[in-house]
Amino acid sequence: MPVVLPDWAPRAPLQPLPLDWAQVAGVELAVLRLDLLDPLISGNKWFKLSHHLAAAQACGADGVISLGGAHSNHLHALAAAGKRFAFNTVGLLRGHPQQTPTVSDLQAFGMQLHWLGYAGYRARHATDFWLPWQAQYPHFYTLPEGGGGLSGALGCMCLVQQVREQLPALGWDDYDAWWLAAGTGTTLAGLLLGEAAARPVHAALAVPADHGVEQQVQAIVQAAGQAVGRYHLHDACRGGFARVDDALLAFMQASEVASGIALEPLYTAKALMALRQQVEAGYFARGSRLVFVHTGGLQGRAAALLQHTDVTRLH
Ligand SMILES: *Cc1c(COP(=O)(O)O)cnc(C)c1O
Repeated sequence: MPVVLPDWAPRAPLQPLPLDWAQVAGVELAVLRLDLLDPLISGNKWFKLSHHLAAAQACGADGVISLGGAHSNHLHALAAAGKRFAFNTVGLLRGHPQQTPTVSDLQAFGMQLHWLGYAGYRARHATDFWLPWQAQYPHFYTLPEGGGGLSGALGCMCLVQQVREQLPALGWDDYDAWWLAAGTGTTLAGLLLGEAAARPVHAALAVPADHGVEQQVQAIVQAAGQAVGRYHLHDACRGGFARVDDALLAFMQASEVASGIALEPLYTAKALMALRQQVEAGYFARGSRLVFVHTGGLQGRAAALLQHTDVTRLH
């Protein structure tokens, strides 16, 4: 079944986000809900994929093959798109077979899974890595970098337009800055391309500072032939990617109750917590209006919480 995408351009709702710590500081928050795109497909990973899927369709591919871990939000979005639009997907997984909520979804969406082990997965950048997979799945579009790079960023550019279109309904005539979680910085780069230096973009790093986000962002924006624009990176990883601590979970739970919006601990809760720290430190002037991006990832929420031993206290 060839990849055929209908004219589907989901819009993320922009909603008020009234949180007491922001109100005390005179900062107005709105949240762009990428978690609410569609019942199956959600999160920034859809936008990062969209240009790749268009390319797969343009070259008449019979399906899409990509790789990721057992909690991969990227594979989840790809498998969901395959289910939704009836094209074949293949996922090459890091490590040995395990059943996570994400893996269960991948299977339910009909993605064909292959577990590569750890060494096998590490070999993914080798020149001959794809040969056997291309032989097994001829005419499949290969997506080696998990939706990153310029293509991924171009798919995220439209978020800027989506926010602008929804400002009147929010009662805002403008906004001052963006705040979002960053892993590779691809989504951040997409917002920079969309803003073209009009407004600053603040990224809360879900990974340690030495993960090369800065270089990645600059490479993408330069590959697009643009000046890099205004952005700021804030440390938000709390000791490492996927590290979860009690203070984070307490903050996440309180925020979920106050906002009625579910978060997950690895990206969205860390980003919001880092935002609170900056707001309370007076980093944003009174009267500032900020757009916080809910980047999704909720299907991994339960597993991320289970890995933390204090999970029982939350339920
Ligand atoms: C992947 C992911 C991010 C990070 O996106 P990048 O484009 O890699 O910076 C943020 N939030 C969630 C929920 C994600 O799944």
